[in-house]
Amino acid sequence: MIVCKFGGTSVGDAEAIARTAAIIAKRRERQPIVVVSALGGATNKLLQIAEQAAKGQLIGALSAVEGLRDRHLAQTEALLRADPAASADIAGELSSMFDELAALAEALNTLGDLTPRSLDAIASLGEQLSSVLLVAAFQRHGLPAVHVDARQVMITDSQFTRAEPQPDAIAEAAQRIVMPIVRAGKIPVMGGFIGSAQGTGVTTTLGRGGSDYSASLVGAALQAEAIEIWTDVDGMLTADPRVVPEARLIERIGFDEASELASFGAKVLHPNTIAPAVMRGIPVWVLNSSRPQGTGTLITFDSPRRAVTAIAGKSGVTLVKVRSPRMLLTEGFMRTLFEVFERHHTSIDVVATSEVSVSVTIDDASRLEALVVDLRALGDVTIERNRGIVSIVGNGLSDGGIAMAKALSAIGDLRVHMLSLSSSGINLTVVVDGEQVNPAMQRLHKAFFSTDGVAS
Ligand code: ASP
Ligand code: MG
Repeated sequence: MIVCKFGGTSVGDAEAIARTAAIIAKRRERQPIVVVSALGGATNKLLQIAEQAAKGQLIGALSAVEGLRDRHLAQTEALLRADPAASADIAGELSSMFDELAALAEALNTLGDLTPRSLDAIASLGEQLSSVLLVAAFQRHGLPAVHVDARQVMITDSQFTRAEPQPDAIAEAAQRIVMPIVRAGKIPVMGGFIGSAQGTGVTTTLGRGGSDYSASLVGAALQAEAIEIWTDVDGMLTADPRVVPEARLIERIGFDEASELASFGAKVLHPNTIAPAVMRGIPVWVLNSSRPQGTGTLITFDSPRRAVTAIAGKSGVTLVKVRSPRMLLTEGFMRTLFEVFERHHTSIDVVATSEVSVSVTIDDASRLEALVVDLRALGDVTIERNRGIVSIVGNGLSDGGIAMAKALSAIGDLRVHMLSLSSSGINLTVVVDGEQVNPAMQRLHKAFFSTDGVAS
């Protein structure tokens, strides 16, 4: 059994769906379970609708609902042209979801308030729609697809917009709901990203880009042989090709390396995707659905040891510095400090310390104000926004001194605000000004990958 996840572009139009169907048809013997994202751009649209409605712009919100409805219905018609009865059925089913969306928008407009819970109710529609559409399209291509409501399988806690999956409940539900479909020789198709809260059944989401994570959770729950993430790039590359055009495909990469890269800016994979797969030792493939003949990237335990596997970068990072003479020679300071971040549900990415100061970076600054109030009790606090992180990742990075020296000399005169090397030596992280992320990535990539062959 394998899990195949398709992104929004793999279901974007009739041609893309035909390719997706062909990919699944080829894998029939391996008993595929399909997880799908919303149509490209649909989630952004849905979130805009929610915001507009809550702000009192009901007319705009409702016309956006109609725009999205038209797009899905046009897609349905194009896909099911040869089967008008099925087309009308599906159009009816999708349309009632859009009626529900319009009703939600009206309710938000009346309330004038947007809660995380209502955001999830709205955001989840993208995957509810795309999964129904994909089932119909697969059936059209002769595949025995069966729709599974992801909310019955993906059981989470009730932290709306960033719900935490509950692996035991998911395993139980997947065995009960998904397995019988597989055993009957059929193909379960479910939306990614969405779930429901344990106990209440209220709709939740796993956070933006969470469909990859859904696929990996389902794979782990059913001990799949492999998890395939089908996307619109050839696999994981040595850098983001929009920043470094000469970036190359990585054919094999370690779980730990891939997970560092995903967390530090490689957008091809949601950062949480790796953890469930690692726990069960399930290989993860990243593949290009518009070039299915490509080799893709295999993420596995068994990867070559290289000084540098890839360079990742991201901007929009906030640097928080706490300076406190009290820290000197005291025990438990770090614990107190980190507890503040925990209390404010803010996760820390990079840490560096000196005798009397600690610097950390955070991605999500939405709780920063309250966080700073509490941090001030511990020392002087400085906040630097618009920083960026560049990560040099390789499982053999600290095998010798050469890679490190090369990295630092490549960064050259770019101003470095913070530097951190994990003790496992797999990730050298450099904090720079936000606008220096791309130049830093280009310099580093050139230093490590410009000569033919493998990174040195
Ligand atoms: N549709 C969701 C999003 O855009 C989840 C995903 O695509 O993975 O964030
Ligand atoms: Mg994605």
